[in-house]
Amino acid sequence: MKGLMEGKRGLVMGVANDHSIAWGIAKAVADHGGELAFTYQGEQFGRRVKPLAESVGSTHIYPCDVEDDASMDSLFAKIADDWGQLDFLVHAIAFSNRAELKGRFVDTSRDNFVRTMVISCFSFTDIMRRAAPLMSPGASALTLTYAGSTRVMPNYNVMGVAKAGLEASVRYLASDFGTAGIRVNAISAGPVRTLAGSGVSDARLMFNYQRANSPLRRAVTISDVGGAALYLLSDLSAAVTGEIHFVDSGYSTVSMPRLEMLKR
Ligand code: NAD
Repeated sequence: MKGLMEGKRGLVMGVANDHSIAWGIAKAVADHGGELAFTYQGEQFGRRVKPLAESVGSTHIYPCDVEDDASMDSLFAKIADDWGQLDFLVHAIAFSNRAELKGRFVDTSRDNFVRTMVISCFSFTDIMRRAAPLMSPGASALTLTYAGSTRVMPNYNVMGVAKAGLEASVRYLASDFGTAGIRVNAISAGPVRTLAGSGVSDARLMFNYQRANSPLRRAVTISDVGGAALYLLSDLSAAVTGEIHFVDSGYSTVSMPRLEMLKR
């Protein structure tokens, strides 16, 4: 099993630090022989990402801001020059104004609605349009979503709407690229303590609640997500596409809190 990703080259977008879900995925892929390139958003993140990338043997580290067309064009031009191929891609990017990730969804501003959708949803399509020409049959793309897409989660608000759009995009992209043999899937992760995760108000409460009420009664780690990503990025999942795969200790299967919690 060790060489599951041997001979495969892929791009990981969305590492901010060693708590990032994208980093958990990168580590799992590197442990199984995959060769990695990384992007970072701005020099401040770059200073954190470069040593992490180097620690898994990567020398391909590029800046990329998904709000900037030129930055995405230049990223894929560089990958085409350096590698000329891409066997997998990880999109682990999201942003919304923290102030709007609390209170009522109805109060979402137009500016933040649009920005949240562009960064957290449309960027995956924008990236896939550029990445696909470098991909051959067997290539696999993966994005990250959350259950707030289909059910109301307190304080998730506009991000839930963006994740709903992202999950629909996964299905449409899977259809667009299916005949080219390129697979497109998402992992719906349970709450993980990350920089983006801490932007959601009462994140700690939600984290503890979901842990206490999930069948496995445990939090999800970035290495749990890494393990599932390994399956979706490797040939093990050769016939899986358009799928939203839960890695949430089973929380999404439960419909109400444990009775002993209600009796407290
Ligand atoms: P993180 O803060 O470590 O990663 C978010 C990344 O998005 C950062 O690397 C940041 O630089 C990047 N980003 C934001 N705006 C960008 C832009 N304009 N251009 C390029 N990059 C940009 O947090 P994370 O929790 O690891 O988030 C990764 C993904 O996982 C996100 O899509 C998030 O919604 C999703 N997710 C997180 C959780 C959780 O509980 N943390 C649960 C389910 C899904």
